[in-house]
Amino acid sequence: MRRITVLSVAGAVTVVVAVTSFMLSRTLAVREPIAIVTSAKVAEPPLITGTLSSRQVPTQVQVPSPSAPPVASLASAEVFPISSVASPRPVCGNPDALGVSRVVEIDTAGGPGFGFEQFKAYDFLRDREVVLTFDDGPWPGNTQAVLKALADQCTKALFFPIGKHAMWHPEIVKQVAAAGHAVGSHTWSHRDLSKLTVEQAKEEFEKGVSAVRAALGTSEASFFRFPGLRNPPEMLAYLGTRNVGIFSTDMDSFDFKIRKPEQVVASVMTKLKKHGKGIVLLHDFQHPTSLALPALLAQLKADGYKIVQVKSKDPVITLPEYDEAILKEFGSGTVSTRPTSSVVRTVSE
Ligand SMILES: [Zn+2]
Repeated sequence: MRRITVLSVAGAVTVVVAVTSFMLSRTLAVREPIAIVTSAKVAEPPLITGTLSSRQVPTQVQVPSPSAPPVASLASAEVFPISSVASPRPVCGNPDALGVSRVVEIDTAGGPGFGFEQFKAYDFLRDREVVLTFDDGPWPGNTQAVLKALADQCTKALFFPIGKHAMWHPEIVKQVAAAGHAVGSHTWSHRDLSKLTVEQAKEEFEKGVSAVRAALGTSEASFFRFPGLRNPPEMLAYLGTRNVGIFSTDMDSFDFKIRKPEQVVASVMTKLKKHGKGIVLLHDFQHPTSLALPALLAQLKADGYKIVQVKSKDPVITLPEYDEAILKEFGSGTVSTRPTSSVVRTVSE
């Protein structure tokens, strides 16, 4: 098992240096605006991926106890890669919980793609079934609020953390996995892979996978989502060789453009009503989304939607050279994996 110092003082210096270029890359990834009008009255500034200065930690956050193949991918047309999985039902203290109606396991051999916005081969959801996905985390406060809302409803989701965020907050990624959610990856620094060379894009992908592994201390789900849902054909082919499942979406909530929690709920429910089912893209990175989630889950339950939990048949396999690159960039070769709060403590100010 690889062990590193994730947030040592030296690592923090690296983070500061990385922030400027990272902000620029996030700007490039913004997609088309949505019809929902945002409110100028909301005091909260939007979070920008990768910027430490935009941290907002909600008060009274409680952390749940750990407890036909895609056109351009290499998946085989003959092998439907999903199967329902018998799984013991965890004890749920909420008799009215949304819960999990079905658990599916995905065989990611050949790099199958999911989500009708881009991949139409594998339509595995039944009417009124929903897969919840959360991108761009982990982020202090927001991710834990999402975890608490999911735990309160005894339901499960799929997370796509950004590599740098995972390295900054490995303890939060561990909380996500400990709560039983699937953890995929979402590149190292959220760059638009369609604007990079193939080699640069591969590095963004591989470092993202290695970062999540380093944060967790073990390999997780072999799932990936492209930043901005921009998937160059060369990378679809590459992910096929890496046996990584690709998640697009059936409906994008565009929550990263919404400042009011109730509008996040309305965005998701309106699109679900239109589609009848689907893989929903949300962001645990976004504070309004974290605030919206209890109401969103309650509304899903009230409207008769059912949550499908998605698992990866096999864990993702990282490449040693990128595991080492992560160590050099963040770990300085040491083996401590303690969180910053236990390494650096303010004793006087
Ligand atoms: Zn993203």
